Amino acid sequence: MALISVAVPVPFLDLLTYNVPDSIDLPPIGARVRVPVGTRTMTGCVVRHDALIEEGTDVKDIGEALDREPLLPATIVDLCRWVADYYVAGIGDALAVAMPPGARTKTSAFRQRKVAIVTIGGSPLTLTPKQASALAILSAAPAGLPTSELRDRGITAAVLGGLVKRGLVALSDERDERDPFERAAMAGVSADATRELTSEQRRAADELFALADAGEFRVALLHGVTGSGKTELYLRLAGRVCQAGRQVLLMVPEIALTPSVAALFRSVFGDRVAIQHSALSGGERHDQWHRIRRGEVDLVIGTRSAVFAPLDRLGLVIVDEEHDGSYKQEETPRYHGRDVAILRASRERALVVLGSATPSMETYQNAAAGKYARITLGKRVLDRPLAGVRLVNMRTEYAEAGPDVVISRDLAAAIDDRLARREQVLVLLNRRGYSTAVFCRQCGDTFECPNCSVSLTVHRAGGHHEGAKNTNHEDTKNANHEETKNTKDKFSLRDHRDLRGWRARCHYCNYSIMVPKACRKCAAPYLEHAGFGTERIEETLRERFPRARIGRVDRDSVRRKGALTKVLSMFATGELDVLVGTQMIAKGHDFPGVTLVGVISADVGLGLADFRASERTFQLLTQVAGRAGRGERTGEAVVQTLYPEHYSIQLACRQDYPAFFEREVVYRRGMRYPPFVALVNGVVRGRTFDEAMQLAREIVRRLEPATAAGTFAILGPAPAPLGRLRGEHRVQFFLKGARRADMRNALMQVVAGMPEIRRRLTIDVDPLSVL
Ligand code: ADP
Ligand code: ZN
Repeated sequence: MALISVAVPVPFLDLLTYNVPDSIDLPPIGARVRVPVGTRTMTGCVVRHDALIEEGTDVKDIGEALDREPLLPATIVDLCRWVADYYVAGIGDALAVAMPPGARTKTSAFRQRKVAIVTIGGSPLTLTPKQASALAILSAAPAGLPTSELRDRGITAAVLGGLVKRGLVALSDERDERDPFERAAMAGVSADATRELTSEQRRAADELFALADAGEFRVALLHGVTGSGKTELYLRLAGRVCQAGRQVLLMVPEIALTPSVAALFRSVFGDRVAIQHSALSGGERHDQWHRIRRGEVDLVIGTRSAVFAPLDRLGLVIVDEEHDGSYKQEETPRYHGRDVAILRASRERALVVLGSATPSMETYQNAAAGKYARITLGKRVLDRPLAGVRLVNMRTEYAEAGPDVVISRDLAAAIDDRLARREQVLVLLNRRGYSTAVFCRQCGDTFECPNCSVSLTVHRAGGHHEGAKNTNHEDTKNANHEETKNTKDKFSLRDHRDLRGWRARCHYCNYSIMVPKACRKCAAPYLEHAGFGTERIEETLRERFPRARIGRVDRDSVRRKGALTKVLSMFATGELDVLVGTQMIAKGHDFPGVTLVGVISADVGLGLADFRASERTFQLLTQVAGRAGRGERTGEAVVQTLYPEHYSIQLACRQDYPAFFEREVVYRRGMRYPPFVALVNGVVRGRTFDEAMQLAREIVRRLEPATAAGTFAILGPAPAPLGRLRGEHRVQFFLKGARRADMRNALMQVVAGMPEIRRRLTIDVDPLSVL
């Protein structure tokens, strides 16, 4: 009899103990097993061997061992245990993130099952709708598709089984290594090995090399202004670490946004590079994961979940744009990729390089306190100047040019100028959709989501909006934001627009309705739009600059696979003159042809009741201004704002990070916010407000005794700013204190005593967004 501890994917659930019967060889740590959980059978992962139980406890047998060799290396299993603990999540939830796609199904994950069509006939077969759609998908892929990909598209094994029986499709087992770089590839990207580093880069490289050569755990902040050539340093440092026989993990916020970085590393490291991110199909991710697991790669490029990549000789982790909010996972386990990377590196004695022009307050504070090495690149390469930034006060603009202005006279003139010189322009508005509210002029009724406490966003016809998932601060999370109320950009829909096919949509739950011709409440035909988003800006630009070639990048325009890469490539090769978009266009891109960046509403986000609002605004403006003037010609940014005197806007204009930090740190320290204390956010959901509030009060009541030691305080409960979401009412509370462990232990104890709250409570340790 051998007892093992197994993690299963159930929220908040701790390890379960099972017996391995004599008929089954003891599965190693990191192997998958099928185990009974309640009335179900689940795929779990072996986490410990020497499980202890109390005398007389009834222990069930495992059903089946799926792997002889560990699927996950023991280091990754350990890392997941730490993540579960730190973020107050179930160990099974953490392991689920580390597993390759398809690992929970019974078939061996090391083999790829492929399906291809055998006959396509117009035969009068009676097919189920699922079978018909499977055939339609397969007929578009004559070479066949992996079953995992079909599963992702809703085609189950049962459906395929039916088709196989009829001889319409054939299954084959093969290992097919698709190349995700084909899609990511961008024209003309390759490294220039003969390029001389600038003297500043040289000095930074020497410091980084010394840290890497020491072969110890260290964290270094590479604080380099936009265009200072950080990527070049990553490339050389990675080369050095690989040469020394260790592996490199390069983390990027959103890989699809930086195809050129992937292409650049590919051009140097060839097929010793693997790529890991969620935009790959299940099959692609699966292939790449197993190449890493087999030790076939030296370098992995990926988004936050790549921090769990099964590398076993990790020597260097680079976290590019370390301040970026997309490193934080906004669902359980709510881990931060950068922070997990640091923990992982500390266990595997690797160097971590955190790169940014606008470091997070946390990182910069750690560098200032001497915990991290700090390496600074203060100048752009080749003495190119940073873009000059001009502010346009939109209050004055409305007074002088009328209330309907979207693009100020200054910005319009600057765009004209660039178009005439055949230079390129980026236009940022961090809010998608056409307009952000619809209301009746007669009775004042507004279109709000019936499930969430936000107003609906109007979109033009023809967009794809399947399963929209909101991330961070883009867009109309801020639908009720002050800025919307202040701007006078209303115009009468009745007069100007044909509404047929237009939709009003919730950006949280995806609820949508057709915009009616008349008010639903009072039947008056006076519906108006208010607030504008990227679709409106695109339209206005097309009207104002009819000869310009204009593209748009936001979550709506890039839903189709490959659409984003396509528009970015077109812009990179000069087939587009103007690119309009949300914060997606502000991230890391290197477009040398851009000499003008326009920011439509710099204040989107500033009115939010979020202590990080200033930091985010500063980062976004500095980053987007940093997209201008990266080539030979000098760049400029024109920033429209209603609050030209706000410090985050002022200092972003001067691109003065240290001054911003000094100012912000006073506020954070005074208000006792991170990085000076740790926060834990708890959100309780209920069918009614009272239900949620009662439950939250009970949780807080049970937490209170733990505050006696004085290491943390409880704030709340109070209604969450987003009071309703997807039909549920939300109440939140905060724990605030210097020692996370105390807050975690108290929470875990409460959860253990109230198993019924598991599905109603969300815990977020180190929250980035507190809506
Ligand atoms: P960052 O990531 O710091 O914003 P990049 O790494 O994108 O900056 O570099 C900005 C631009 O400068 C890129 O086009 C890059 O190819 C170029 N560059 C980097 N280092 C050098 C160098 N030593 N000499 C010439 N050009 C360089
Ligand atoms: Zn909704």
